[in-house]
Amino acid sequence: MPQEKKPSGAGRVALITGANRGIGFEIARQLARRGLRVVLGAREANEGKRAATKLEPDGSVIAETIDVADAASVERAIGAIRERCGRIDVLVNNAGILVDSGQTASGVSLGDVQKTLDVNLIGAWRVSQTVLPLMRKQRYGRIVNVSSSMGTLSDAAGSGGGWPAYRLSKTALNALTILLAAELGGENVLVNAVSPGWVRTRMGGDGAPRSVEEGADTPVWLATLPEGGPSGQLFLDRRRIDW
Ligand code: NAP
Repeated sequence: MPQEKKPSGAGRVALITGANRGIGFEIARQLARRGLRVVLGAREANEGKRAATKLEPDGSVIAETIDVADAASVERAIGAIRERCGRIDVLVNNAGILVDSGQTASGVSLGDVQKTLDVNLIGAWRVSQTVLPLMRKQRYGRIVNVSSSMGTLSDAAGSGGGWPAYRLSKTALNALTILLAAELGGENVLVNAVSPGWVRTRMGGDGAPRSVEEGADTPVWLATLPEGGPSGQLFLDRRRIDW
């Protein structure tokens, strides 16, 4: 009898934040198709359930309510996943907001800066801190921080100062990637950042050149890196790029 070929991710559990739409939804789909057990994170319970139902044909997908800006929500969600799945192998910090279009560094509302940092930086940090004890215990973890080319310092230098809160949140997320990777070297927990490119989503708009499939490709690749893979780097199209 021919042996059924097991998908490479079988047995692994992946949590993707902000996965009810956009790039996160597509990352969830692609990881489910690779055989991972996907936990689709959404801050609205109904949105999460609706999105998870859509992905049923793609594999094992369950929804979990998680607002990355709310410490109690993160604590509760990670506890619930631990109870239900027993482990978390992959964390994709994808949830993100962009609220400072048309603003520049000299005049941007600092409230908007705080709001942006709370989701894009502290949110990813908070979820990582909550998941890391499990990953360390397992001696296996893949953390993918969905960043942006707009967070690179060279891009900021040529930007005219636009989107200051968003840029800074991603620059800081890149730095967090370096710090976590430096701390976790040797524990088989790989931490990388990714620029998905400019992607057609609610955030990216209809005029963006890339599909969500293209935007999700490198995050999915980083989420499934083999042991000894790169850590503490920023990638675009599966290639390392400068910070
Ligand atoms: P999107 O369509 O606007 O989706 C953003 C997702 O994040 C939504 O699911 C949203 O949930 C969720 N979210 C926002 N705040 C949250 C919170 N506090 N807790 C949990 N989830 C939250 O954006 P996208 O284009 O797919 O972006 C995904 C990631 O890629 C972001 O980190 C973004 O910065 C990055 N990125 C995007 C592009 C692009 O061109 N699209 C380029 C570079 C980087 P709700 O539905 O509840 O609002």
